[in-house]
Amino acid sequence: MSNQQPIYILQEGTQRTQGKTAQSRNISAALAVADTVRTTLGPKGMDKMLVDSLGDITITNDGVTILEEMAIEHPAAKMIVEVARTQENEVGDGTTTVVILAGELLKRAEFMLEKNIHPTVIVKGYRLAMDQSLQILKGIAEPVSLKEESKLLKIAMTAMTGKGAEVAKEKLALLVVSAVKQVMEGEGQAPVIDTGNIKIEKKIGSSIEESELIEGIILDKERVHAAMPRMLKDAKVLLLNTPIEIRNPETDAKIEISNPSQMQAFLEMEDAMLKKMVNKIISSGAKFVACQKGIDDLAQHYLAKNGILAVRRVKQSDITKLSKATGAKVVTKIDDLTERDLGVSGLVEERRVGSEQMTFVTECKKAKAVTLLIRGGTEHIVDEIGRAVEDAVGVVASAIRSGKVVAGAGSCEMEVARLLRKYANSLSGREQLAAAAFAEALEVIPTTLAENAGLDPIDVVAEIKSAHDKGRKWAGIDVFTGKMMDAFQKGVIEPVQVKTQALNSATEVAIMILRIDDVIAANAKQQGPME
Ligand code: ADP
Ligand code: MG
Repeated sequence: MSNQQPIYILQEGTQRTQGKTAQSRNISAALAVADTVRTTLGPKGMDKMLVDSLGDITITNDGVTILEEMAIEHPAAKMIVEVARTQENEVGDGTTTVVILAGELLKRAEFMLEKNIHPTVIVKGYRLAMDQSLQILKGIAEPVSLKEESKLLKIAMTAMTGKGAEVAKEKLALLVVSAVKQVMEGEGQAPVIDTGNIKIEKKIGSSIEESELIEGIILDKERVHAAMPRMLKDAKVLLLNTPIEIRNPETDAKIEISNPSQMQAFLEMEDAMLKKMVNKIISSGAKFVACQKGIDDLAQHYLAKNGILAVRRVKQSDITKLSKATGAKVVTKIDDLTERDLGVSGLVEERRVGSEQMTFVTECKKAKAVTLLIRGGTEHIVDEIGRAVEDAVGVVASAIRSGKVVAGAGSCEMEVARLLRKYANSLSGREQLAAAAFAEALEVIPTTLAENAGLDPIDVVAEIKSAHDKGRKWAGIDVFTGKMMDAFQKGVIEPVQVKTQALNSATEVAIMILRIDDVIAANAKQQGPME
């Protein structure tokens, strides 16, 4: 039939790219993301200044923070950002690494696509190479135990190198390691560490050196009544998630009053009910009350008269942490309150920090929730230190959990690449090419570290490569001197999980992007998502 009508299967305005065009556009987008964070890798990495639509400024070196603030649009680029986020959630460090690795895997894949190697072959080769790399990592990792304090400190310091926290990293590392040990539960075979029990509280003012570990929780609250004590020793702690009020604004009771005596009776009744509530609290023996809801003025007065320190409208997450720190149960009905619901704190104290009053609930014996109080000159400084400290908490926890570490400074990637090349030779034909490309891609880490330190990456990488061939498995780059070093001896140590997670996620996302040969985008937004 001539004059055949074209068939439209998609809505008008839909954008579609297919085959090689789709692949190469996706790869370009992913590479653009990788290129953005590349210059921030390592101790000599640069920082980025990000300005949001409201004009707020963030200065950071942290991969995931940069990508999140950038509000990336392209779907393939978004997949890369997602990978950085996963890395952050799983280990807390290595976010830049994972993005750079994913980019490099895709770049090498593009070369192969140009040589007409089919994506499924590349995918298969990459998968095999990844599985093998994970095995290799397991094999080369070194043990670390809870007792090796100095190793744990080095792990914390490695994560903070090159960040705003650098100047006080020894001090901060000590705080981080103590904090992680403190919240650890189930010592022995499988320690459980919930890093969520380490609260990072940032306060502008003073200097980084003044940062401290509080064995307990700091509340951004002051006592509700001026007549309450400012300080309590060995206080019984009550946690309430119910108000100490009668006219609870959350319930809409309507009372009709038709004459003054009724009004008087009502007020008296209310007074009596409040008194009853407060008496219940007093007789339980509680001296410090943290209430998630409101506290009536009259109740405040009665509490103060009885020497009780109370704070109100405490965040639920803080109540949970207080419970972990003091051992108190969270009470939902004051009527049911008994002494057994109470916890203990060695010292509850209202203190001025910077320009604000805060309540410190500290000296909690065996506290399973602690606070790292981060100090620093400006908001930008405390924010960036907070991020670095978070990374450090993540790596120390990860190292203790798995008990396995590797050296950084590019040494680990170099060693995996060396052993992986041997393995690649055992594969057949085209998959061998892909596995070898995978090994080459790992070298992007030492290469980038060298570049960012202003060194000649080709020379430096060749030098450490030959050291690895001679059996020096932790030969890495001393970015400060430009020379080769034994990274393990020099204390550049990272938990193995940072590397396994990065390899795993980078490969998965690269594969996912490679398998796409058709992008069909609905015309929902004004701007096309394709470019
Ligand atoms: P990421 O977001 O991936 O953690 P970083 O900017 O923190 O990125 O850089 C991490 C890299 O820097 C790792 O490869 C690590 O081994 C390396 N590194 C850390 N400290 C040193 C050091 N003192 N010398 C050389 N390399 C280091
Ligand atoms: Mg890091």
